[in-house]
Amino acid sequence: MNRVAIYPGSFDPLTNGHLDILHRSLALFDKVIIAIAVNSNKTTLFSIEERLGFISEVTKGMKGLEIDTFQGLTVDYCAKVGATSIIRGLRAVTDFDYEYAISLMNKKLAPEVETVFLMSSNEYSFISSTIVKEVARHGRDVSNQVPGIVSKALLKKLSQ
Ligand code: ADP
Repeated sequence: MNRVAIYPGSFDPLTNGHLDILHRSLALFDKVIIAIAVNSNKTTLFSIEERLGFISEVTKGMKGLEIDTFQGLTVDYCAKVGATSIIRGLRAVTDFDYEYAISLMNKKLAPEVETVFLMSSNEYSFISSTIVKEVARHGRDVSNQVPGIVSKALLKKLSQ
């Protein structure tokens, strides 16, 4: 059986926490598609092309991985690409309520699609794109929390 999962998110920008979830999901599925959500209601620091560029660069050579962008409902995108699982990472209880509500709605919309939650690893549990951007905005080093290409891009963008 060819098990295809999508890992959807904003990835604005990619962090080491995202990468941890990605590595672990590649061990569970035949194919994982990182699906960058294009959401016109959400203001992002990095453009879709920049976010795609970081992920392509950092995941070069990883087997079983594809990168794509999508608009609209996640379950509709699953049907389009033949995915039967949606991967989400859970950091703390604060993630839980929101993720649970979305997973219930997705189950109603597409009963054949499972949401698979992976608990964040201890060392990444405090990392979020939002916090990383905030710290970088104040000139502090975030190179332990994000890949090198991302920390350079943060420095460049936020010092402009
Ligand atoms: P979204 O806007 O969809 O929440 P994000 O890029 O912030 O997009 O996150 C994408 C997914 O990765 C979400 O499931 C989120 O919970 C998960 N995630 C983000 N950071 C971490 C982390 N440090 N550890 C585990 N999961 C994480």
